[in-house]
Amino acid sequence: MRVETILNKCQKFKSFVYKNVRWLKHDGYDCIEVKIIPRKNSPAHCSGCNKPASLYDKLKKRSFEFVPLWGYKVFFVYHMRRVNCKRCGVLVEAVPWASGKYTLTKTHMKFLSDWARKISWSETARSFKTSWRKVFDSVRFVVDFGLKNRDVSDVESIGIDEIAIQKGHKYLTVVYQIDKYCIRLLWVGKERTVKTMLRFFRLFGKPWTKQLKHICSDMWKPYLKVIKKKAPDALHILDRFHIMSNINKAIDEVRAGEHRKLAEDGYEPVLKKSRWCLLKRKENLTEKQAVKLKDLLKYNLKSIKAYLLKEELNLFWEYISPHWAGKFLDLWCTKVMRSQIGPMKKMAKSLRKHKPLILNWFRAKKALSSGIVEGLNNKAKLATKKAYGFKTFDCAEIALYHQLGKLPEPLIAHRF
Ligand SMILES: [Zn+2]
Repeated sequence: MRVETILNKCQKFKSFVYKNVRWLKHDGYDCIEVKIIPRKNSPAHCSGCNKPASLYDKLKKRSFEFVPLWGYKVFFVYHMRRVNCKRCGVLVEAVPWASGKYTLTKTHMKFLSDWARKISWSETARSFKTSWRKVFDSVRFVVDFGLKNRDVSDVESIGIDEIAIQKGHKYLTVVYQIDKYCIRLLWVGKERTVKTMLRFFRLFGKPWTKQLKHICSDMWKPYLKVIKKKAPDALHILDRFHIMSNINKAIDEVRAGEHRKLAEDGYEPVLKKSRWCLLKRKENLTEKQAVKLKDLLKYNLKSIKAYLLKEELNLFWEYISPHWAGKFLDLWCTKVMRSQIGPMKKMAKSLRKHKPLILNWFRAKKALSSGIVEGLNNKAKLATKKAYGFKTFDCAEIALYHQLGKLPEPLIAHRF
C-alpha cells in the first residue's frame, strides 16, 4: 500500500491530489515529503471570498507540516498560486489543508492542540518533536476558530472571578457562564480594574447584558461598581466561595501576626505549620492536620477564635430563607465585632455593608449550583499551569479558553 492511499483515506481533497512521496532530510532527520498538485480542471479559489477565480501566477513552493507517521515528520509541499479575483483583486489562493501564514497544516494543529489539553504544552512539544512555539500556535489557531464560531446567546448567569498570576503580582479577570445547562469560560481580561470590567460589558454589548439574570462576584470594589452601572436588572450575588475565601485571608492574617508575636515574646511556636489546618475545610484535612488542629483547639489563641468563627459562618449557607439567613448574619457580625480580632472585624464590617447582595445568594440558590465558581477557579489555576512556560497575558488567555471555553473546534475528517 502506498502512503498516498493512506492519506486519501484520512484526508481527501476535492481539488488537489497527493503526488510523489519521498524521503527528505530535515534538520538532519529522515522525514516524509508529500507533493501536492492541483487536480486537473479544478479551479483555484480566492482566499478572500473562497469563490473560484482565474489564475494570476505561481509562487515559490511552501511546505506544511502534517501529523507525523510512525515517528517520521511529514511535510506537504505545494506551489501556492495567486488568483485574480473579481471582488478581492490579486490574492493568494485558498488551500483546504492550511490557514493563512501557519506552517503547520490545520489537521496537525488540531492534533497538537488535542494533546496540549491532556498534557502540558512542553510535554506535547517534546512528544511530537516540535517546538513549544508551534504548540502555542496550534492552540491559538483552534481557540481563534472557536471564538469566531461560538454561540453566546443563551447566557443567563455569569460568575466573575480573578486569578493571580506571576506569584500574585498580576491578576486576570475571568468571566464564566454558570447556568445549570452550560458552564464555561466566556471571557478573560487583563487586571481587575474598572476598565477591565467595562471592556467586558462593551464587548458583549447592551442587548446581551440585558438578558442576564444572575451575576456572581466577590466584594472587589471595581467589579461591584461596574456591575451596578452596566447590569442593574440582573440579580447581583456575592457568593459563598468568594466570601469564604476572604474569611480565609483574614484568618491567615491573624495567624501570621500571632505566630510572629509568639516568637517575639519567647513562647512555644504552637502555630508553626498550622496554616492549612485553619484554612482547609474540616473534611479535607489530612490525618496529621486533624491531629494538629485538635491540639491547637486547646489554646486560647486569636487564630483559633477566628477559626471557630469561620466554622460558625459555614452554617449560614445552609439556610433556605433569606430572612432567617439575614438574622443569623447579623448575630454573627455582632459576635465578631466583640471579638477584638482586627482582620475579622474588618470582614464583619464589609459583610454588613454588602448584606443585601450576600442574601441574594439564597434567592438564586435554586438556579445556580453552589460549587460552580470554586470548581472553575481550581480548573483555571490548573489550566494556566499546564501551559507552563507562558510569561505573557496572551498565553494565559489562550490556555484558559482552550481548557474551559467549551469552544467549537475545526472539523477534521479523521481522528488521530
Ligand atoms: Zn475573492
